[in-house]
Amino acid sequence: MTVRRARSVPSFILVATLVFSGIAAAAGGEADSPRYPERWVYCSANLQVDPSVKNVIALIERAKADGYTTMLLADYKLQVLHRVPDYYFSNVEKVKAAAAKAGIELVPSVFPIGYSNGLLAHDPNLAEGLPVVDQPYIVRQASARGGSQGEGRLEAILDASGSTRLRNGRLEQVQGDRFAGFTFQDDPGITTHADRTVVHGGRVACRIEPGVKAPNRESTNVRLMQRIVVRPMTAYRFSCWARTRDLARADDFRVLALGASQPGRQLTFQEGLIERTQDWKRIEVVFNSLDQKEVNLYAGIWGEGPGTLWLDDLELTELPLVNILRRAGCPLLIRSADGRTVYDEKNDFERVVDPKLGAVPWGGEYEFNHPGARLVVRRSSRLRPGDRILVSWYHPVITVGGQVMCCLSEPRVEEILRDQARRVEALFHPRSYFMSHDEIRVANWCKACQDRKMTPGALLADNVRLCTRIIASVNPRARVFVWSDMFDPHHNAVDSYYLVNGSLKGSWEGLSRPVVIANWNGGKARESLTFFDRRGHHQLIAGYYDVDDLSNFQSWDAAARDTRGVMGFMYTTWGNRYGLLEAYGKALESARRP
Ligand SMILES: [Zn+2]
Repeated sequence: MTVRRARSVPSFILVATLVFSGIAAAAGGEADSPRYPERWVYCSANLQVDPSVKNVIALIERAKADGYTTMLLADYKLQVLHRVPDYYFSNVEKVKAAAAKAGIELVPSVFPIGYSNGLLAHDPNLAEGLPVVDQPYIVRQASARGGSQGEGRLEAILDASGSTRLRNGRLEQVQGDRFAGFTFQDDPGITTHADRTVVHGGRVACRIEPGVKAPNRESTNVRLMQRIVVRPMTAYRFSCWARTRDLARADDFRVLALGASQPGRQLTFQEGLIERTQDWKRIEVVFNSLDQKEVNLYAGIWGEGPGTLWLDDLELTELPLVNILRRAGCPLLIRSADGRTVYDEKNDFERVVDPKLGAVPWGGEYEFNHPGARLVVRRSSRLRPGDRILVSWYHPVITVGGQVMCCLSEPRVEEILRDQARRVEALFHPRSYFMSHDEIRVANWCKACQDRKMTPGALLADNVRLCTRIIASVNPRARVFVWSDMFDPHHNAVDSYYLVNGSLKGSWEGLSRPVVIANWNGGKARESLTFFDRRGHHQLIAGYYDVDDLSNFQSWDAAARDTRGVMGFMYTTWGNRYGLLEAYGKALESARRP
């Protein structure tokens, strides 16, 4: 970060004063004034459930007693207000009344850009789509799969004859403890073994013992890896069966695809796939090969620790139209093998729909373990049995924790955001809104995004500008807050971030100065605070994260010593841990400007 326009101090103060005279007075105030005039509590809740309502009300009362001023209310239901039952609204009224009585400001969390499942519950087709290009299919007599649709008709099915397969995926061919066909195996006979007693299928499984101490152990990791050739721009499912016993590093178990072409790229980002002790379970990840021609497929543990993991029956398959996205920005293109004839859904195919798209186990959640859409040939079509076709389509991708990101460009996304703002405004009439842009891990792949010829950073800047305008349209005087990470070059606004296609740099250009940054970049607190300070933003420090002492406050407080626009601190817990609420409250209340 060398050449960046630093805003001059006078213009910062002028603009800030005009827009936010209240905060500016507090933030730029006299010595001995409170250093953190706004003291927030982060509260994740589900106000559709009575015990949660009680907990939130109790937390409001506690927060008041402990010196807090404001509560950020993150409730998934605020994303689906069109379908909550009537009693949800009376529960909200109870919470609002408790907050009013305590004098605590309630700030609703809106706009799920990143963790978009609640937005996608409105329309699962709005997920960002990764392209599959020219996947081969062949026309044949339809089978009676899943009911009578298409029976006696023709259908096109995936032609997997040229598709790549794992070598020795069932782990039956083994020499000593070394499994044939794998590109490498960490420490055969030491941490990885051929097990003939505990197996899933066949006669052999791989037993993995990440805790073995041995002088000749070479790797701290314990994995099987196979490099395979793939077709670029194709969706694959990589699966295995796994079993565990007292596996301390269960969180470090990965089924992982790493692109091996230059420059390589990680293609899967899923964690939490297995428990410490678990009977045989099928685990799968879905990835798109993108621009990669070769992929390294891993299964195993990263790191050392006690316990045992068994692996068996690894499999790689191509994904045929599972969770196919249907929207203008994700066009379905069906062509003849020579590319000369284009087939359509009017004359050649029944409408191509995956009825389970984004609907399992409920709306807005995605799973790939089902057959997907069928390509049923219309009687009017010219297609005949044996004809070969190429199908191009788009699919969503799941990242850490079941997260699916919405498209940043499809117009219907804006409609849903506007609808949410109207409903939340009617419900809360809040003084402040909190935009939940956060950990945007997939972006800029679908045609709607690509046609704009912008970087992901510019797409995001445009989106956050839009979101700010939407709030102003329903409540011109509202204060607007946003999480820092996606707009922070010291955090996630960087060149290579997960499955974002291009650089996220410049996203911060979309933040108008009145937007307050909820800064949670504790790892680079000083650099990050300075960055946003120079851009003229006020900041709310979002600290705490479930530690056992005041250390998080102390380190933030030290880092923020030279930052002018810090207006407050939010007690931020991801695990509903409020044990230190009072201690943090006291520390915050007594902090004075240096
Ligand atoms: Zn898109």
